[in-house]
Amino acid sequence: MRLEEVISMLEKQPMSAKEICIALQLDPSREKEVYEAIKRASRVLKRKGKQVLMDPPKCKKCGFEFESISPNRCPKCKSERIEPARFFIQEK
Ligand SMILES: [Zn+2]
Repeated sequence: MRLEEVISMLEKQPMSAKEICIALQLDPSREKEVYEAIKRASRVLKRKGKQVLMDPPKCKKCGFEFESISPNRCPKCKSERIEPARFFIQEK
């Protein structure tokens, strides 16, 4: 996975790790690698005066916002329909 590819995608639009996997034609099981790439990207971008921000995962049913990055289930309503965290890049 090339860091520049991930960065240029996130500069165009907010994306979840899964969406990045799909866009790069990676197996969804490699989501973890995407998170790692995003972490590295955020260090690279910092030097350029930009930052990677995250919209937290949200329960589709009740709107609960998660603090963890990839939750399985809503603690409030027990729904498993979760809108994934999306990452985007912003100028500082
Ligand atoms: Zn919920």
